[in-house]
Parts: sequence; structure tokens; C-alpha cells
Amino acid sequence: MMIGMDSFARFRQRALFLLLPTCLLLSPLCVGQKAELETAETQIVVEAGMDMPRLLSLQVPGQPKWQNRASETLIQAVESGDETTPVHWRFDRDASHADAKNISLVYESENPHLRLTWSWIAKQDYGPIEHQIRIENLTEHELWIPMQDSFAFDWQLDPPVELEHVYVEKGANTPSPVGTHGVQIADGYRWTGTSSTYGDIDEGKPREIIPWSLVQREDTSRSGWYVGIEFSGRTRISLERKHDSLHGAVGLNPDPAPFRTRLEPGGSFESPVVFVGGFDHGPDGAGNILRRWVRAVLGNPETWKNHNFPLVVNNSWGGGMAVNEEMARRMIGDASGLGVDMFHMDAGWFRAVGDWRPNPQKFPHGLAAIADDAHQHGLKFGLWVDWTQAGLSTESGALNIRDPKVRDWMVTDLPKDWQPEPFKGQTIDIGVPAAKDWAQHEVERIVTDYHLDMLEHDGYLVAHGCDRADHPHAAPDPLNKCIYKSWGAYWVDSSNSTDVSYHAVRAYYEIYSKVRKQHPGLLFEICADGGRMVDFGSAAHGDYFSITDTYDPLSNRRAFYDTSHVLPAAMLESYVENWPATRLENFRYMLRSGMMGWLTIMMDTTTWSADQHAAAKKEVELYKKELRPLIREADLYHVSPRPDGVHWDGIEYWDQERRRGVVYAFRGTVPEEGTHLFALKGLKPLARYAISFHDHTSPDRTLTGNQLMKYGLQVRLPYVNSSELIFIAEQTQ
Ligand SMILES: [Zn+2]
Repeated sequence: MMIGMDSFARFRQRALFLLLPTCLLLSPLCVGQKAELETAETQIVVEAGMDMPRLLSLQVPGQPKWQNRASETLIQAVESGDETTPVHWRFDRDASHADAKNISLVYESENPHLRLTWSWIAKQDYGPIEHQIRIENLTEHELWIPMQDSFAFDWQLDPPVELEHVYVEKGANTPSPVGTHGVQIADGYRWTGTSSTYGDIDEGKPREIIPWSLVQREDTSRSGWYVGIEFSGRTRISLERKHDSLHGAVGLNPDPAPFRTRLEPGGSFESPVVFVGGFDHGPDGAGNILRRWVRAVLGNPETWKNHNFPLVVNNSWGGGMAVNEEMARRMIGDASGLGVDMFHMDAGWFRAVGDWRPNPQKFPHGLAAIADDAHQHGLKFGLWVDWTQAGLSTESGALNIRDPKVRDWMVTDLPKDWQPEPFKGQTIDIGVPAAKDWAQHEVERIVTDYHLDMLEHDGYLVAHGCDRADHPHAAPDPLNKCIYKSWGAYWVDSSNSTDVSYHAVRAYYEIYSKVRKQHPGLLFEICADGGRMVDFGSAAHGDYFSITDTYDPLSNRRAFYDTSHVLPAAMLESYVENWPATRLENFRYMLRSGMMGWLTIMMDTTTWSADQHAAAKKEVELYKKELRPLIREADLYHVSPRPDGVHWDGIEYWDQERRRGVVYAFRGTVPEEGTHLFALKGLKPLARYAISFHDHTSPDRTLTGNQLMKYGLQVRLPYVNSSELIFIAEQTQ
């Protein structure tokens, strides 16, 4: 306990405060005082220690408390030139504040003069509570600070309980066979999950996670807590159980060490915002709160205002890099006939990497003419751009790696024989102010000149490490760095890698925030080779995610199964590519495997048979009329094990307010498994539900909630690799 070192008077004051309900406390706070924040599922109590703040407990109402023995340690020293100066933090009661939504405890150091703000904010009356640490340099000279975690905890496990850890991989490249992990937390359990803008999938190493983690009690309540990171740079979550202690840390990735970051005079460091929330009823119970919270707190209100969100899209990659004006106009005409909402021009339209102007041979009338054609057909127009990538084009306006102005924005000196790949070049470090300014103007120009409704970024937007000593980030360690070539670009690994990502990601957020202000209603698709940049910082600055880079039905369903644990389904885009479909049942299975969230068809639809065309048109109609409202608003339940392509799998949507839902049912490849029972969730046991099989694979019927949840909904499909959509409507008495 960090009290009692002050005067007796102050101690008495503390005791007095303890007699009051904490929610009644008004600022200013005193040393040792406790304050509380709560939402419907999450209650936290914090304490203002003399030299350090502390989270005391986290509780799900009605469930046992998670008592915290220690929270994050504040930085203890700063560097200036060759000198290291210890920092002594002292609570500043006048600057601190607590009300029903916001606790902010301020600590100051006199010499060096620093201010640290430790804050917790409840932005909704449900869902998690956000936490951040901000350190300001109030001196008149540059300082360097070491790693400051966003959040650390040491829960006391008393009495020892059975716990399960749930975490979810990114769908980077191809979703792995596991994807969603549920692991028992036995004594000695030790785990670290990492995330970056690269979604690294190195052989032999654990795959990157969506920066989120959940711990639940393995009892009937299935209650617990989860934590997520609202940042796209290099971050990590660690968890370790030792006897009666479950401890861990959340924030920037301290590895490779030593991390250091610059504080300009008057400048500040902001730890990535994390959110911490309580839940019961397991991961779906957590997900149904978190998804709603992400939409309300991180989502763009302009985007969600549009009832056509999520859109149905036709993407030009069905024609690959060969796309040209004739093909684009043909696709637009066909897309309009199919009823889709947007035509999305993928890679292949530009002059060269880094030269983001339409190729005049392919688009003699420019790109705006294509956008206008889409608009005349009632479609929106979206465009793929790798806007931080430089190449070799010498045309005016191109980002050329040899340009003396641009050369220093590269993460290292490139060899003379360097060549870009067809749609990938060298990522510039947008953490450099001049590079950021260039990118800001370039994005603004592209959005305006080409009449965009949607901008997709791809490639690797954020520099992977940097070898430069004259950039705002820390310099690399000259004795311990690795420079290598990957995907045609140069990457650097050194102790400054996390700081490089810290600066570049903040620049990316600033660029998009500014463009969003200028163009309300413009959509941003987050793509980094599909599914590598799926995190809550991107969710706060973009509108939807490409969730994997492999587009067959199974990969699409696996990536959706994983990602939908933590992000709103409407923000999860599946690209549906051509897949061998012998029967219409297989064709619909292919489409529906990408219809649980945002649907992008990535096929030249003009090559479809008349039957396929007619079937697709009906599916698009169904999506827009019946499925989209559920995808936007309904609770989501994972009512099967993760898809394996062999057995059955399914997802249930249930909208409590409209009392409507749907089950997406997919049959695998086992010849004997012609029927399956899906145990549904979220229904009222005694209510009666009208069940209708959209493809009429079974007669419609009426069943009680009890029957559907305990016995299950029986689905019978005669063909392997086929599907059914089963609509559920609660009957009024
Ligand atoms: Zn750099």
C-alpha cells in the first residue's frame, strides 16, 4: 500500500473517503484514495498511490473479483545525451480528476520535469473501459524514455481456479488449421502473442494474433476478462501463470530490446490505448458486447449511418493485372445488373508502382471516367493503391527511390540494381514528416482526382524497421541489426523496430483522420496482403478489413470464424474468387462462404453461365434484403467447431430486438454426413420460432427455443460442399 507516508491529516482524509461510496467522490483526489468506473459488464477500482497509481480490481457484476497485486510500473529513468537521470513520480492531486466516466491520475517529476497521466475512460455504459498512459516532456531539451507498458496486471488466483485462455490469429496469407485457440491455463503457463502491420507468418514461429486476449473461468458462469490494443504497430500481449498469480503485460512490443523513444521538448509519448472488459457466457458472450462497442466507439458514424453498409462489391481482380477500360466498363455493366453496390478497381490500373496515375494505354480516358461510369450505373467506385510504396518511375509526380528528396525516406540505401515487383515497391518511412506530407497530399489527390467512394490500401504501408539515424525514431543498434529483402522490398530488424512502427503508424492514423474529415462518407478498406493488419487501431481509422489473402470457401469461412470473435461482422470482408462449382448448390456454397460479413465478388461475372448469373443475382438480393440487416445489427454465435472443410460448420445471427435470425449452414465432404444438428444460442427457451429453409431443403416448421438450443436445429443437405440459409422468426403470442 502506497499510503501512510504523508501526514496524519491526509491519512484521516483517506479513511473518510473510504467510508463514502467511491462513485460519489469528486476531484481533486487525495493520495490513497480509491475511485471506481463501471459499465454494465465491467467494474474497476483504482487507487492514487503517492508515487504510482494502481488498478486494484476488475469485476464482472455478480462474479468473483479479479484482485490485482500490481499494475504497470512507471518509467524510472530518462536519458539526455549521455546522462541517465532517475525519475521520481509524485501524485499531483490538483491536476487529477475522477468522475463517472473518466479517471485521470496525474503524476509529476520535478527533475527532469515530466508529467504522466494515467487514465481510464468508459465511453459507453456497456463494454470495456479504455486505458492509456501519456508522458509529457516539460523540459526545454530532448529526452529519451524507455518502454512504458500500456497495461500490466498480476491477478491473485485465490482459491486456485481452472482458467482458459482464448486468442485469435490473423488470417494473414492463409488461415492456419487452428486460428481460434482455447488453451487451459495450467500452473507454469507462459505465452506471448505479437501483432504488427506485417502479420508475420515465419516458419516455426507462432502466427501473429489480432491484438486481443481473453481469460475465462472454466465454471458455469464462463466469466472473465479480455484486453485489446487499439494500435497497429508492433505490440504484444503476455500471460503467465505461476501458482496463485496470473500476470502479464500489454502494449508496445519490447522485443528486440532495448526500446527507447524520443521526447521532443514539449512533446509527449502516448502508450497504445488498451481496452479491458468483463464478460460472462464465454467468448460469444464477450464478442456480442465487444463487437457492439467497437462499432460505437471505434467505428466511423458516417459509415454506419449508411444502411447499405456493408456493401456488396465486384472487384476487378477477376481479370487480374490485365484490367483496362473495356474490361472495367464491361464489369461495371454486369455488376449493375447483378445489383451490387460498388465496383472496386484492384491492382493493374496504374502506370507503375509509386506512380499512381492511370496507365494511358489501358485507360485512355483516365480513371475519373470509369468512376463516373460506375456512378451512372448506380454503383460506388473504389480503388486499390499502395500509397507508401516507391518505385523507379521517372514520370512527374511519381515516388522514385533515386530522387534525392525521396532517397532518405527509404528504410535503407537500396542497391543500384533494385527493381520493384509488378505491384509492390519499397515502403517509405511515413514517420518522417516530409514523407508523411507527401503521402497526405498524394492520398488527397487520388481521392479527389479519381472521384473515389472507397480507397483500399495494400502492400506494406508501414516501414518494417529502419536503418536511418536521422529519422524521428530511435537509431538502429549498429552492432545488432539485420537488413534483408522480402516481397521485393528491404526490411530492417533492430532494437528500434518498435519505435519505427510507433511513429509510422501514428503518421498513418493522422493522414487518414485528415482525409476522413475532408471526405465524410469516403470508405477505407484496410488491406495488407489480406488480413495482416487486423487490429483495433485500424478499426478506429478504417471501415473494413480484408481478412485473409486466400479466397477459397474454406479459407474465407475460417478467417471469418476467427475474426468475428472480436470485430463487427460488417467490417469483415471476404473476397470470393472463382472456385470449381459443378452444381448450382456448390456455386451458392462458394458465394455464401463469403456472405457472412462484407461480400466482395472477385470474379469476372461476365464469364458466368446464365444459371449462375441468375443464382448470384438472387443471392445478392437476399443479402441486401435479409442478411445485411442481421450482419449489421444482430448478435453472432459460433454454433459449430471451426470450419475444417470436412464436417459441417455454421454461424448463427440472432437479432434480439427484431426477433429475427439466420443460420448459415455449410456441409463438408463426408458422404455419410447428410444431416447435422446445430445447437442454437441466444433464444428464449419457451418462445416458439418459425423456421424456414431458404432453399427448401427441408419443410418449414415451428420449434421452441428449448428444442432449438437443447436438441438442435436439424439441417439435411443432399450434396457435399453445399449450403443452406435457415431463417428464424420468433412468433408473437
Ligand atoms: Zn525511418
